[in-house]
Amino acid sequence: MSRLIFEISRPGRRAFELPKPQFPQKTAEELFGADLVRKKDARLPEVTEVDVARHFTELSRNNFGVDSGFYPLGSCTMKYNPKINEKIASLDGFANLHPYQPEETVQGALKLMYGLSKQLKEITGMDHMCLQPSAGAQGEMAGLMIIKAYHKKRGDDARTKIICPDSAHGTNPASAAVAGFDVVQVRSNSRGLVDVDELRRLAGSDTAGLMLTNPNTLGLFEEDIIEISRIIHGCGGLLYYDGANANAILGKTRPGDMGFDVVHLNLHKTFTTPHGGGGPGAGPIGVKERLYPFVPVPVVTFKDGVYGLDYNRPDSIGKVRSFYGNFLVLARAYAYILSMGGPGLSLVSENAVLNANYMLASLVDDFDVPFGKRCMHEFVISGEKQKEMGVSTLSMAKRLLDYGYHPPTIYFPLIVREAMMIEPTETESKETLDEFIGTLKKINEEAISNPDMVNASPHTTKTGRLDEVKAARTPVLRYTFNE
Ligand SMILES: *Cc1c(COP(=O)(O)O)cnc(C)c1O
Repeated sequence: MSRLIFEISRPGRRAFELPKPQFPQKTAEELFGADLVRKKDARLPEVTEVDVARHFTELSRNNFGVDSGFYPLGSCTMKYNPKINEKIASLDGFANLHPYQPEETVQGALKLMYGLSKQLKEITGMDHMCLQPSAGAQGEMAGLMIIKAYHKKRGDDARTKIICPDSAHGTNPASAAVAGFDVVQVRSNSRGLVDVDELRRLAGSDTAGLMLTNPNTLGLFEEDIIEISRIIHGCGGLLYYDGANANAILGKTRPGDMGFDVVHLNLHKTFTTPHGGGGPGAGPIGVKERLYPFVPVPVVTFKDGVYGLDYNRPDSIGKVRSFYGNFLVLARAYAYILSMGGPGLSLVSENAVLNANYMLASLVDDFDVPFGKRCMHEFVISGEKQKEMGVSTLSMAKRLLDYGYHPPTIYFPLIVREAMMIEPTETESKETLDEFIGTLKKINEEAISNPDMVNASPHTTKTGRLDEVKAARTPVLRYTFNE
């Protein structure tokens, strides 16, 4: 186990040395008043420069990331993180801007935001974009508030329900509930797609809208989307598109053309911002013309060659975040889209879908495949067969750690038992895909020949199987000093 920084601390050790002051110094009491000064020194770790560098290097090695190995998480996948983006995002003129700077001094930043909006409109087929939300879930929330404001403005107050498929990402029903809607679940049919007949029964004059991910979280394209859109619009509702993972559709199809009225994208997934540890992110939303009056303020404008910010929008739902959004995430997405170009983005989709299908086709003999042998950018297999032999999907996921892989998403979507959701992404080589396929096959063989060993995994990691519930419910976040 790594030692904590407090455990390597020794009184008096320092990582720096300052020159002795040349002039008389005031004491803290003289500067701030005795009542504001600490009675006892804060207990900070005292370490040398060498120790502090080793400590944090060691911590970084304990962490698994896309730079340490293959990370085939489905749905919430961190995709490509080009290193040049980091250089661009750290340029002085981007990184050191102040949000209160006068508009005439940040024309470049506003131009970037305006340009990015234009690119994202083209990619999604929407009429307007708002870059403010800082996460997919916040985009969902803002989008649902816009849907609510739209119905309210028309005096259509009885629309209290949002329909979500049973395969939906958990944030969808959660956002709908937080936005004050009742959530109605529509079943998936035996092919893993929205049951259109049931949708027809559920949709009505109380429907505010439908939230849909397409391709859905099973990695399947909702091929009835035009009919679905007709049903929802026919009863006066709106369609919300969860575009968190857009790398099966880039340059291929657009939610705007499928009939969606509101869309969010996760720039930190599809558009290349590293987001380990929960941040930073950006979840811009796109809307169709009739919803434009309601988008958050400010809106970036371009008039007579000058970029500006428009706050004067009486029907806006207001601000959903401080300032203008997570600007450096926007800068990365802009750089990525410019460097790829339209044909490059289409190729992203082709490779993402090809890689996922290659992997799925290679695993059909070893694992149950609940929904078809073709997929989009990700797919779901089931460990039910192995479970019957006494080895759960959880155990197989833990065993992957021994082989140096971050396990895929497990037990989601909820409608697949012993689910394992895999997204290889477009940037992995065939060798990496083959090695991972080989490892899953090997684990399947181990589940047959030596189930106890798989159930006791991981064997090579610093800690064994953790009590995940206890870790989440009663985390130890503070060091307890001995005295
Ligand atoms: C990641 C994800 C979200 C939520 O995005 P956050 O940025 O984590 O809030 C919503 N829907 C789907 C399908 C996702 O994969």
